[in-house]
Amino acid sequence: MAFPENIDQSWSLFLDRDGVINQRIPGGYALRPDDFVFLPGVPESIALLGSLFGKVVVVTNQQGIGKGLMTEKQLQAVHEKMMDGIRQAGGRIDAVFFCPDLSSKPDNCRKPSPFLALEAQKRFPEIDFAKSIMVGDTESDMRFGRNAGMFTALIGDEPVSSQWVDGHFADLPAFAKYIQKIIQSS
Ligand SMILES: [Mg+2]
Repeated sequence: MAFPENIDQSWSLFLDRDGVINQRIPGGYALRPDDFVFLPGVPESIALLGSLFGKVVVVTNQQGIGKGLMTEKQLQAVHEKMMDGIRQAGGRIDAVFFCPDLSSKPDNCRKPSPFLALEAQKRFPEIDFAKSIMVGDTESDMRFGRNAGMFTALIGDEPVSSQWVDGHFADLPAFAKYIQKIIQSS
């Protein structure tokens, strides 16, 4: 795997949401807090990662808004549940950046466009993409990370060309343990 060993508080972590933090809903969207179900061990892993990285942000495509299936307020309610669960495990998310656009919209903000990464950097100017890792479960996430100049970590079993991927892990807890190990051994 190709991650540097000098990861410290000057590094930032970008997390995709669906399929990394919570269970994906095939063909659907987490429209209500009840639809949001954490994947096993994820709140604790985000707490661990929060102690290793200076910034932890979520970047998520949510075209359910563009489709009129949910409002931004409903999305916020879903994210409040996510934040509560992570807080209860002793962790934090510094900010959530979402793209409500339809994929059919020209020049949309959706990953793999680096738009959400640039939004995050506007909010937190200390974010350095050369010292950032994007964790996601799709090729779009990996290309997003690459487009912004980040390292990339793929979660799960979706086939993605290795040219986009610096490290491949079963799940977020496996990624967190790996990062903890390389920091400790450096
Ligand atoms: Mg995903």
